[in-house]
Amino acid sequence: MDFREHIRVIADFPKEGISYKDITTLLKNGEMYRAAIDAMVEKISPWQPEVIVGPEARGFLLGAPVAYALGIGFVPVRKPGKLPAKTISETYALEYGFDTLEVHADAINPGERVVVVDDLLATGGTMLATANLMKKIGADMLGMGFLIELTFLNGREKLAEFPVFSLVEY
Ligand code: IMP
Repeated sequence: MDFREHIRVIADFPKEGISYKDITTLLKNGEMYRAAIDAMVEKISPWQPEVIVGPEARGFLLGAPVAYALGIGFVPVRKPGKLPAKTISETYALEYGFDTLEVHADAINPGERVVVVDDLLATGGTMLATANLMKKIGADMLGMGFLIELTFLNGREKLAEFPVFSLVEY
């Protein structure tokens, strides 16, 4: 499957100099969406996770169907103020300013086997914050999977302690 053919690249979005990878064109193609999920499931299944974690928002679009296919649970990691019960949070640096991610404090049991799924690995900041959140909650982080990896940003270096896979590299 050539997923790349179905990913739309938009120049200068959301700002000048960024070559944005738009996965909506892949997701709307049923055959491609299923193939992408199947490919992720094939890579994640041997890790034998008990839970799939997905960061807001595109991590939901990939992580939830992966969890469904594996017959295991899905836990959302969200922007601040979205989750109704007690949360654990992790703040991380952006290019300009900071961002925070939250997860329900009771979403994952200590030692539970977790794989994180997101659409795209860029600098790795989002995934590192998610991994730190998983550490705080006591999860057993097995690895992380992405549809797309922007290899020139070296996000993998930040995630060196974890197994990482991606389906398409730019
Ligand atoms: P990082 O934290 O720098 O690795 O950025 C990854 C996050 O930014 C992911 O959650 C992506 O959804 C989002 N992102 C960064 N660049 C792109 C892009 O070109 N297309 C879609 N999402 C992107």
